[in-house]
Amino acid sequence: MLPFLKIMVKNLLAGPSTDPFPFAPAHTPKRFRGRACHDKEKCILCGICRHVCAAGAIQLRVTEDGMAVHWVLWHNSCVFCGLCAHHCPTKALTMSDDWHMTHRGEERFDQREVSFVPYGQCSQCGARIHPRPESVVQQLGSRYPERFMMCPVCKRQELARRVTPAKPSITTGESDERDSA
Ligand code: SF4
Ligand code: SF4
Repeated sequence: MLPFLKIMVKNLLAGPSTDPFPFAPAHTPKRFRGRACHDKEKCILCGICRHVCAAGAIQLRVTEDGMAVHWVLWHNSCVFCGLCAHHCPTKALTMSDDWHMTHRGEERFDQREVSFVPYGQCSQCGARIHPRPESVVQQLGSRYPERFMMCPVCKRQELARRVTPAKPSITTGESDERDSA
Protein backbone atom coordinates (compact mmCIF):
# COMPACT_ATOMS: atom_id res chain seq x y z
CA MET A 1 0.00 0.00 0.00
CA LEU A 2 2.85 2.33 0.82
CA PRO A 3 4.43 2.37 -2.67
CA PHE A 4 1.05 3.24 -4.15
CA LEU A 5 0.65 6.20 -1.80
CA LYS A 6 4.13 7.41 -2.72
CA ILE A 7 3.28 7.41 -6.44
CA MET A 8 -0.04 9.12 -5.78
CA VAL A 9 1.53 11.94 -3.78
CA LYS A 10 4.29 12.36 -6.41
CA ASN A 11 1.74 12.66 -9.21
CA LEU A 12 -0.41 15.07 -7.24
CA LEU A 13 2.59 17.33 -6.67
CA ALA A 14 3.63 17.13 -10.36
CA GLY A 15 0.23 18.41 -11.48
CA PRO A 16 -1.68 17.50 -14.64
CA SER A 17 0.38 16.23 -17.58
CA THR A 18 -2.26 16.99 -20.23
CA ASP A 19 -3.36 20.32 -21.73
CA PRO A 20 -6.46 21.81 -20.08
CA PHE A 21 -7.91 22.53 -23.56
CA PRO A 22 -10.39 24.17 -24.28
CA PHE A 23 -9.87 26.26 -21.12
CA ALA A 24 -6.26 27.07 -22.08
CA PRO A 25 -4.28 26.88 -25.32
CA ALA A 26 -3.10 23.41 -26.26
CA HIS A 27 0.57 22.73 -26.93
CA THR A 28 1.30 22.87 -30.68
CA PRO A 29 4.56 21.33 -31.92
CA LYS A 30 6.82 23.72 -33.83
CA ARG A 31 6.59 21.86 -37.14
CA PHE A 32 2.85 21.21 -36.92
CA ARG A 33 1.05 21.90 -40.21
CA GLY A 34 -2.23 23.69 -39.69
CA ARG A 35 -4.26 25.68 -42.19
CA ALA A 36 -2.33 27.25 -45.07
CA CYS A 37 -2.04 31.04 -45.37
CA HIS A 38 -1.68 32.98 -48.60
CA ASP A 39 0.12 36.31 -48.94
CA LYS A 40 -1.22 37.98 -52.10
CA GLU A 41 1.58 40.58 -51.99
CA LYS A 42 4.09 37.82 -52.81
CA CYS A 43 2.02 35.77 -55.26
CA ILE A 44 3.11 35.71 -58.93
CA LEU A 45 0.15 33.57 -60.06
CA CYS A 46 2.43 30.84 -61.38
CA GLY A 47 -0.16 28.17 -60.50
CA ILE A 48 2.40 25.71 -59.10
CA CYS A 49 0.40 25.39 -55.86
CA ARG A 50 -2.68 24.29 -57.80
CA HIS A 51 -0.58 21.91 -59.88
CA VAL A 52 0.98 20.08 -56.89
CA CYS A 53 -2.15 19.97 -54.73
CA ALA A 54 -3.28 16.33 -54.92
CA ALA A 55 -6.46 17.15 -53.00
CA GLY A 56 -7.57 19.71 -55.60
CA ALA A 57 -8.03 22.24 -52.80
CA ILE A 58 -6.64 25.24 -54.71
CA GLN A 59 -8.39 27.10 -57.53
CA LEU A 60 -7.22 30.06 -59.60
CA ARG A 61 -10.06 31.76 -61.45
CA VAL A 62 -9.50 34.71 -63.78
CA THR A 63 -12.02 37.52 -63.26
CA GLU A 64 -14.45 38.43 -66.04
CA ASP A 65 -12.47 41.52 -67.08
CA GLY A 66 -9.31 39.39 -67.24
CA MET A 67 -7.31 41.80 -65.09
CA ALA A 68 -7.09 39.78 -61.85
CA VAL A 69 -7.33 36.29 -60.40
CA HIS A 70 -9.36 34.93 -57.52
CA TRP A 71 -7.00 32.61 -55.65
CA VAL A 72 -8.95 30.20 -53.40
CA LEU A 73 -7.88 27.39 -51.05
CA TRP A 74 -10.66 25.23 -49.60
CA HIS A 75 -9.71 24.21 -46.07
CA ASN A 76 -12.27 21.40 -46.05
CA SER A 77 -10.52 19.70 -48.97
CA CYS A 78 -6.96 20.39 -47.80
CA VAL A 79 -5.11 17.46 -46.21
CA PHE A 80 -2.32 19.68 -44.79
CA CYS A 81 0.42 17.92 -46.73
CA GLY A 82 2.32 21.21 -47.13
CA LEU A 83 3.31 20.53 -50.75
CA CYS A 84 1.92 23.85 -51.98
CA ALA A 85 3.96 25.81 -49.44
CA HIS A 86 7.05 23.73 -50.19
CA HIS A 87 6.88 24.40 -53.94
CA CYS A 88 5.70 28.03 -53.90
CA PRO A 89 8.68 29.86 -55.46
CA THR A 90 8.02 33.17 -53.69
CA LYS A 91 6.98 31.82 -50.27
CA ALA A 92 3.55 33.36 -50.74
CA LEU A 93 2.11 30.21 -49.18
CA THR A 94 2.97 29.12 -45.65
CA MET A 95 1.56 26.51 -43.31
CA SER A 96 0.39 28.03 -40.04
CA ASP A 97 0.07 26.15 -36.75
CA ASP A 98 -3.63 26.99 -36.54
CA TRP A 99 -5.49 23.68 -36.27
CA HIS A 100 -8.78 25.07 -35.00
CA MET A 101 -11.04 23.82 -37.76
CA THR A 102 -14.27 23.16 -35.88
CA HIS A 103 -17.24 24.81 -37.57
CA ARG A 104 -20.96 24.40 -38.08
CA GLY A 105 -22.16 22.44 -41.08
CA GLU A 106 -23.74 25.50 -42.67
CA GLU A 107 -20.37 27.31 -42.48
CA ARG A 108 -18.51 24.71 -44.54
CA PHE A 109 -18.37 26.88 -47.65
CA ASP A 110 -16.79 29.72 -45.64
CA GLN A 111 -13.81 27.56 -44.71
CA ARG A 112 -11.46 28.94 -47.32
CA GLU A 113 -8.53 31.23 -47.88
CA VAL A 114 -9.36 33.78 -50.58
CA SER A 115 -7.07 36.32 -52.26
CA PHE A 116 -7.74 38.75 -55.07
CA VAL A 117 -4.48 39.06 -57.03
CA PRO A 118 -4.37 41.67 -59.83
CA TYR A 119 -2.24 41.06 -62.93
CA GLY A 120 0.62 43.43 -63.71
CA GLN A 121 1.08 45.54 -66.86
CA CYS A 122 3.91 45.49 -69.39
CA SER A 123 5.99 48.65 -69.00
CA GLN A 124 6.12 49.04 -72.82
CA CYS A 125 2.79 48.05 -74.36
CA GLY A 126 0.57 47.77 -71.27
CA ALA A 127 -0.31 44.13 -71.97
CA ARG A 128 -1.33 41.87 -69.11
CA ILE A 129 1.60 40.14 -67.40
CA HIS A 130 1.92 38.03 -64.30
CA PRO A 131 2.33 40.18 -61.18
CA ARG A 132 5.82 41.22 -60.15
CA PRO A 133 5.77 41.75 -56.37
CA GLU A 134 8.45 44.07 -55.00
CA SER A 135 10.17 41.20 -53.16
CA VAL A 136 10.49 39.28 -56.45
CA VAL A 137 11.76 42.33 -58.34
CA GLN A 138 14.46 42.80 -55.72
CA GLN A 139 15.38 39.14 -55.80
CA LEU A 140 15.32 38.45 -59.54
CA GLY A 141 14.84 41.65 -61.48
CA SER A 142 17.52 43.91 -60.07
CA ARG A 143 19.95 43.14 -62.91
CA TYR A 144 17.62 44.12 -65.76
CA PRO A 145 14.77 45.99 -64.05
CA GLU A 146 13.45 47.51 -67.28
CA ARG A 147 13.24 44.11 -69.02
CA PHE A 148 11.77 42.40 -65.94
CA MET A 149 8.59 44.44 -66.21
CA MET A 150 8.00 43.67 -69.92
CA CYS A 151 5.67 41.13 -71.55
CA PRO A 152 7.39 38.29 -73.51
CA VAL A 153 6.79 40.03 -76.88
CA CYS A 154 8.35 43.34 -75.83
CA LYS A 155 11.18 41.46 -74.14
CA ARG A 156 11.96 39.61 -77.40
CA GLN A 157 11.85 42.85 -79.40
CA GLU A 158 14.11 44.57 -76.90
CA LEU A 159 16.62 41.72 -77.01
CA ALA A 160 16.49 41.62 -80.83
CA ARG A 161 17.25 45.36 -80.95
CA ARG A 162 20.28 44.83 -78.74
CA VAL A 163 21.81 41.93 -80.66
CA THR A 164 21.05 43.11 -84.24
CA PRO A 165 24.03 45.11 -85.62
CA ALA A 166 23.28 48.49 -87.23
CA LYS A 167 22.86 48.27 -91.02
CA PRO A 168 26.00 49.45 -92.90
CA SER A 169 25.47 52.60 -94.94
CA ILE A 170 25.37 52.12 -98.75
CA THR A 171 28.54 53.57 -100.26
CA THR A 172 29.80 53.86 -103.85
CA GLY A 173 32.99 52.15 -105.03
CA GLU A 174 34.60 55.57 -105.38
CA SER A 175 34.20 56.52 -101.79
CA ASP A 176 35.30 53.01 -100.75
CA GLU A 177 38.55 53.55 -102.60
CA ARG A 178 38.88 56.97 -101.06
CA ASP A 179 38.33 55.52 -97.63
CA SER A 180 40.91 52.82 -98.16
CA ALA A 181 43.48 55.22 -99.61
S1 SF4 B 1 0.78 30.99 -54.10
FE1 SF4 B 1 2.87 30.59 -54.78
S2 SF4 B 1 2.74 28.73 -56.05
FE2 SF4 B 1 0.65 29.55 -55.81
S3 SF4 B 1 0.33 30.85 -57.62
FE3 SF4 B 1 1.08 32.19 -55.97
S4 SF4 B 1 3.31 32.23 -56.25
FE4 SF4 B 1 2.55 30.48 -57.43
S1 SF4 C 1 -1.41 21.62 -47.97
FE1 SF4 C 1 -1.50 19.97 -49.52
S2 SF4 C 1 -3.70 19.51 -49.71
FE2 SF4 C 1 -3.54 21.49 -48.64
S3 SF4 C 1 -3.72 23.00 -50.28
FE3 SF4 C 1 -1.52 22.62 -49.97
S4 SF4 C 1 -1.01 20.99 -51.47
FE4 SF4 C 1 -3.24 21.04 -51.27
